[in-house]
Amino acid sequence: MSRTWSDAERARMVRAIELARPYRTHPNPRVGCVIVGAGGKVVGEGAHRGVGAPHAEAVALGEARGAARGATAFVTLEPCSHTGRTPPCADALVAAGVARVVIAVYDPDARVRGRGVAMLRQAGIETTVGLMGDEAIRLDAGFHHHRRTGLPYVRGVVADAEARADEAVGVDIAALIAEADHLLADTTGPAPTTRRKLAGLAEDGHLYVAIEDMEIIEALRGEGLVDTVSHYIRIGADHEDLGAEDGLRASDAVEVGAGYLRIDLERSPASWPPLVRRRAEAVIPTRYGHFRAIGYESLGDGRQHVALVTGRVVGEEGVLVRMHSECLTGDVFASLRCDCGFQLQEAMHRIGEAGRGVVLYMRGHEGRGIGLIDKLAAYALQEQGRDTVEANLDLGFPEDSRDYGAGARILADLGVNSVCLLTNNPAKRAGVEAYGVRIVERVPLVAGENDHNRTYLRTKVAKLGHVIDMEDRPPGRVPETVGEDGPIRQPPETGKPAIGKPQA
Ligand SMILES: [Zn+2]
Ligand SMILES: [Zn+2]
Repeated sequence: MSRTWSDAERARMVRAIELARPYRTHPNPRVGCVIVGAGGKVVGEGAHRGVGAPHAEAVALGEARGAARGATAFVTLEPCSHTGRTPPCADALVAAGVARVVIAVYDPDARVRGRGVAMLRQAGIETTVGLMGDEAIRLDAGFHHHRRTGLPYVRGVVADAEARADEAVGVDIAALIAEADHLLADTTGPAPTTRRKLAGLAEDGHLYVAIEDMEIIEALRGEGLVDTVSHYIRIGADHEDLGAEDGLRASDAVEVGAGYLRIDLERSPASWPPLVRRRAEAVIPTRYGHFRAIGYESLGDGRQHVALVTGRVVGEEGVLVRMHSECLTGDVFASLRCDCGFQLQEAMHRIGEAGRGVVLYMRGHEGRGIGLIDKLAAYALQEQGRDTVEANLDLGFPEDSRDYGAGARILADLGVNSVCLLTNNPAKRAGVEAYGVRIVERVPLVAGENDHNRTYLRTKVAKLGHVIDMEDRPPGRVPETVGEDGPIRQPPETGKPAIGKPQA
């Protein structure tokens, strides 16, 4: 089924999201619905306004009345299939004679997920899911998180050293502390209640908890109690200084309480507490030499990354670095649809040969950040003639959702502050430099062009600003690298980098 959304369809879903946004519906979800009649005009709109109020679909259908027959309904969440205070919305859509339903996201609750969609489809209604799904989740991150995990959505924040948490709160702090104590009551590990301070705001069902101690944040993360980690800073002179010295833009910060801004974790200045943590380390011999594999966890999102390090890198000038975005299909299955696997192998080869450098393997960057399933969906769209950028946009994602903050922080933890970055992507260079890593040179990494990915590579050049010389480069190494006989490149001979020894 085609998933190519038109601008008009996008606009309808944007409207549905905006309809839902103003309402505090906790613990119910925010939901918006727009019904477009057969003639293309909006015939009904609705939003869920809170507990006890009718569901968004019911409101919109009530407004549309007879005009709902043959219409298309745009709804930000899978219509409900259970009977609560109101009859199931899936039934109501069927009864109204709606011809088509476009849904942003499935219900995150595994117990009911897909049931509403199945009911609609059984009734012969053309039902598609995925238009602006990411936006719809952001509309109510707390609800989605809670339904997915059963846990409250809590943001841990690391207060800037000068911040006094008790100054920050202009709301009922006693109630917040009580709620936090309740949430934390079962937490093992360090006694957080005695050591933490609260600078929280109960907002949209999210609780922000300011904790000055990273150990506690880790303990809470381990319990699944802290969902994301970010920084607070004071509004005022601090903020202006940050703007000047660290390149932070005011738009990156959100005002969360009296005198405080919340700064996105990944955009925090490099001098603030590291929000990646080294968890384990071991030597991995590869066909490109021996690497120290250092496992990191990003405290912001819990993602686990690996740094493959060879030779002495601490404080060295111009360390060769590849910041590689995970690509299951390319890296593991040797897919020819992209050049990722080839680039990874080539980067390890070059860094192994140089005897000094770092390959950062960044998880969660699949499909330029859209995730594995959606990447496969984007491939399906490409089979219908869309290019890689259009396909991501069709699925409601930005053309590139990756962020390089965690990678930059890992480099800082490794003591690497001067880098020769192996990439064809100038935007990646800028993304890394934004976090204070000095890039002395961008080193092209051209590998693996073949008949299957030539169009993809040309799109990256044309639309994403990649610098690849498509005419003069050597042909791809497809037979060489993925031949039946397996991998082909021999390991570097002796003199292969030994761990810990300084390399030339
Ligand atoms: Zn409903
Ligand atoms: Zn790939």
